Amino acid sequence: MFINYGSEELHLNTEKVPNYTCKNCASLNTTYLTITLNYFYLYWVPFCATQKNVYTKCENCHQYIDKKQFSNQLDFTYSNIKLNTKIPIWPFSGLFIVIGLILMMYLDKIID
Ligand SMILES: [Zn+2]
Repeated sequence: MFINYGSEELHLNTEKVPNYTCKNCASLNTTYLTITLNYFYLYWVPFCATQKNVYTKCENCHQYIDKKQFSNQLDFTYSNIKLNTKIPIWPFSGLFIVIGLILMMYLDKIID
């Protein structure tokens, strides 16, 4: 039997880090902060979010910095950008379908 499942990455937001000088190439205002969400799918139905990824990338030298290595300035920028970033509900569709089916089975038992 063929089972289709896997993980996809969903882009949520990318914004420029204001007044930030790249530590690698010393360019001003060339660093962008990106937030993405990984979700698990089963038979092409998004099931649940598995991981949020936060990183910065310099447009000039392509230096990548993971959230774990953020400076105070990058952490502050991230908390601001996070407020403008909405996590959509559709990556959890499969979870809602399962909860809906369980509720229907439960209600069916009560009514009988
Ligand atoms: Zn750079």
